[in-house]
Amino acid sequence: MSTILPSSPIPIFITAPAFREWREKALLEKKSVGFVPTMGALHEGHLSLVRTSLAENDLTVLSIFVNPAQFAPHEDLTTYPRTLEQDITTLAKVTFTDPSLPRPCAQGDPSSEHTNIRQPSAIFLPSIKEMYPSGITQDISSQKGTFVEVQGYSHQMEGKSRPTFFRGVATVVTKLLNVVQPTRAYFGQKDIQQALLLKRLTSDLLMSYPLSQNVRIVPTARDHTDGLALSSRNAYLSQGERKMAPALYQALVAAKTAWEAGSSKVECLLEAREVIAARNVQTRVNDLDVKTRLDFIEFNNADTFDIVDDKATQRDFDVILLSGALFVGKTRLIDNLVLGDASKIML
Ligand code: AMP
Repeated sequence: MSTILPSSPIPIFITAPAFREWREKALLEKKSVGFVPTMGALHEGHLSLVRTSLAENDLTVLSIFVNPAQFAPHEDLTTYPRTLEQDITTLAKVTFTDPSLPRPCAQGDPSSEHTNIRQPSAIFLPSIKEMYPSGITQDISSQKGTFVEVQGYSHQMEGKSRPTFFRGVATVVTKLLNVVQPTRAYFGQKDIQQALLLKRLTSDLLMSYPLSQNVRIVPTARDHTDGLALSSRNAYLSQGERKMAPALYQALVAAKTAWEAGSSKVECLLEAREVIAARNVQTRVNDLDVKTRLDFIEFNNADTFDIVDDKATQRDFDVILLSGALFVGKTRLIDNLVLGDASKIML
C-alpha cells in the first residue's frame, strides 16, 4: 500500500532504511544531529524543543508518530489530534539564526550550506508497521515482540495513574533513537518524569547516540496570559473547560509559594487543593458547566520518583518534583514545577 504524503519543503522519511541513508551522510560529514520526538499536533512547546536543537546542532530531525503502545485501551488513541499538513507548514517556518556565522549576501541562497540560518533538516514519519514489525496491540497481555521497561521508575507519579504508559514510551523512544542515532535528543519539562526516565534509559542501555548527558530537558512552554501548559490535548477543551484548565498550574504555583515560605508538604498540598476547589466554585458561579476531578498532586523525589515524606520541608531537599494531573471534563491535563535547584536535573 503506498502512502500519500503532503508536499513538504523539509524531506520526509517514512522508513528506517531510508532515514539511515540520510543519517549515514550526516555522520560522514561529521555533522551533529539533534532529535525531537513528537506525536504531532505541533504547538509552541514542540517548537521550543526544535529551536533549542537548531541552536545546538548542525542538523535537526523531528519525528511524528502517534505511538499506540503508550495508550491504554480506554485512552484517546483514535481521537488524538492528527494535523500533519499544518505541522509541516509550521515546522517549515521555524528558523534559528547562528550568530557565529556571517550573514549571507543579499542574493544568497537560503538553502545554501553557508547561510547563518538553520531550519529543520528532516522529518521521520514512520508507519505503525515500520515501528512495530511484530504488530502492536494496546492490551499488554496480548502484545508480542520486544518491549523496554524502566523498572522501578515507571509506576510512580504519572505511572501510578497510567501503569502501561512508560513501557510504551520507553519502547518507542528506544526504537526511534536506534533509527535516528542523534547526537542530542530533546524532551520537554512538561512531561518531566518521561524526560528523566528517558535520560536514565539512555544511561542504563549504554547508548552512544545520544549519550545520557546529551538528553536535554527544555522548560515548559505556557500560555503567556494564564500559564496553562501548552499541550496537543488542549485542543479537546470546550470554551468553558479552557477557562478552568489553568487551575492546575495555579494550584502548583500556590503549593510552590507555600513551600518556599517554609510550609511542610502537607500544608502545601492543602493550599493547592484549595485553589482548585475555589476555581470549581467560581465556574459554578459563572454558570459554566465544567466538571473537574483532581487525579493527583504530589511531591516526588527527583531521583527515585518516590513520594516525599508528609513532614518534609525545603530544608530537606535540593530539588523536588511537584506534579499533578487534573481531569477537566474528559480531558486529562498534566503539569509540574521543579522546586529548588532545577539546574540539578534540567541539563
Ligand atoms: P508529545 O507530542 O506530546 O508527545 O510531545 C513531544 C515532546 O514535546 C515531549 O518531549 C514533550 O514533553 C514536549 N512538550 C509537549 N508540550 C510541551 C510544552 N508545553 N513545553 C515544552 N515541551 C513540551
